[in-house]
Amino acid sequence: MAELDIRQIAVLRDNYVYLARDPETDACAAVDPAVAPPVLAMLQDLGWRLSHILCTHHHHDHVGGNLELKRATGCTIVGNRADADRIPGIDVMVSEGEEITVGSQVARVFDVSGHTRGHIAYWFPGSRAAFVGDTLFALGCGRLFEGTPAEMWRSLCKLRDLPAETRIYCGHEYTESNAAFALTLDPDNEALIARAERIRALRREGRPTVPSVLAEEQATNPFLRADEAALQRAVGLVDADPVATFAEIRRRKDSF
Ligand code: ZN
Ligand code: FE
Repeated sequence: MAELDIRQIAVLRDNYVYLARDPETDACAAVDPAVAPPVLAMLQDLGWRLSHILCTHHHHDHVGGNLELKRATGCTIVGNRADADRIPGIDVMVSEGEEITVGSQVARVFDVSGHTRGHIAYWFPGSRAAFVGDTLFALGCGRLFEGTPAEMWRSLCKLRDLPAETRIYCGHEYTESNAAFALTLDPDNEALIARAERIRALRREGRPTVPSVLAEEQATNPFLRADEAALQRAVGLVDADPVATFAEIRRRKDSF
C-alpha cells in the first residue's frame, strides 16, 4: 500500500501544520491548521484537495484555521469526543482506540492528555507516522497546562511504545532549545551530543528538525527516559518513581 505523502508548513512563530495526502484516493488531511491562508496556498501549489482536518487539541495555534478551511473546502473536521466543545467546527468525534480513515489510510487514535485535557494523537502505522501535537516534541514534551505529571508520563509512554521507526510529527520547532536543556541532564550521552550538533547545523541553515524518528527520541529525549537510572541521578533522585523523576525534569525545563 502506498504511504501518505506528508508536507510540512511552518506558520506563526514556530508552529508546524502538516498536509498528509493518500496517493490512492486523493484524500488529504491537514493536521492542526493554526491558520488557513498558508494551508490554502500550499494546497493550490500542489493541486491537492483538502478532505479532512485532524485536530490534536484545542489550543488556538492548532485549530485557528479550522473554520476558514472548512468554509473554503467543505472538509470534515475530526477531534476528540471528550473535547468536542473546544474544537471549532468538529464533525467527527473519536476516542482512544478508535480508528479514523483518510482515504485508504487508517489512523489509530491515542488519548495523550497532559498538555491539555483531551489531547489526542493520530498514528498511521501504514505510513510509519504519528501526529502528536504538543505532547512529544523532538527532544522535549509539552508543558502541563491542564494535566498532571502522572497523566503526561502515561501519555508519553504510549507514544514511546510505538514502533521505533515511527516518524514523530510534532506541533512546534522547539528542538534547539530542547537540545540545550537535554544536555544539561545528560552531558555524556554520545547519541545526544551528536544529535544536538546535527540540530544546530540544521537550524543555522533555517531547516526543520522535525519530523524525528522515535528511535532517536527513545535514546536521547530526557522526557521519555524518566524510568532510567541515569536520568534519575541527573535530577538528584535515586530509585525514584518515574512520575516523580518526570515531574522534576519538567519542572526544571519550565524555568530553563
Ligand atoms: Zn498546545
Ligand atoms: Fe501549540
